[in-house]
Amino acid sequence: MKITAAEFIISAVQPHQFPEDALPEIALAGRSNVGKSSLINKMINRKNLARTSSQPGKTQQLNYYRINNEFYFVDFPGYGYAKVSKEERRKWGVMIESFLKTREPLQLVLQIVDIRHAPSTDDQMMYGWLKHYGLPVCIVATKADKIPRSKWDRHVKVVKETLEADRSDPFVLFSSDTGMGKDELWGQLLQKIRG
Ligand code: GDP
Repeated sequence: MKITAAEFIISAVQPHQFPEDALPEIALAGRSNVGKSSLINKMINRKNLARTSSQPGKTQQLNYYRINNEFYFVDFPGYGYAKVSKEERRKWGVMIESFLKTREPLQLVLQIVDIRHAPSTDDQMMYGWLKHYGLPVCIVATKADKIPRSKWDRHVKVVKETLEADRSDPFVLFSSDTGMGKDELWGQLLQKIRG
């Protein structure tokens, strides 16, 4: 995929701020620090468009990035950040759930996990919501470069089992460091963006 334009559009805190041009949207969900911003940057060959490790306490913002005037990456606020209050967590849940339930341009959700660790209860809950709302999901296990190749299979199995992942969900092993999985993930995205 040749990237000709990639722009940060808005950190939306209210639905009325969401873009209205109906371009397809690809959302990214995952724990804080899992590597969502790095994944976006890697996919579009930019060092710093998505701000890595930006403001981890900001639980209310959906960050919109418009790519090639063709689709949006929508970066969900990372969850599982220790310093977030119960009330913030609740608000996060309300916002994400209502987005998942009602957002028509949403074509695919990338559920991002760290290949090194079993998914958390927050990851399980997120995946459960995606299934509940019948949304297409692609599971992306990132930071693959951080464990030896000989251990990949075992870790992939743990991720799938812990999420109780549907066999039909695509699964991409990824690394923002090496670019592993990038072409495969573009294949998944383009299927949804271009149909
Ligand atoms: P976010 O909070 O989900 O947006 O996570 P970031 O993209 O900011 O990444 C968190 C940290 O993990 C940063 O220090 C990144 O450099 C690092 N990181 C992210 N993806 C990878 C990866 O695939 N491999 C390695 N080795 N480090 C990564």
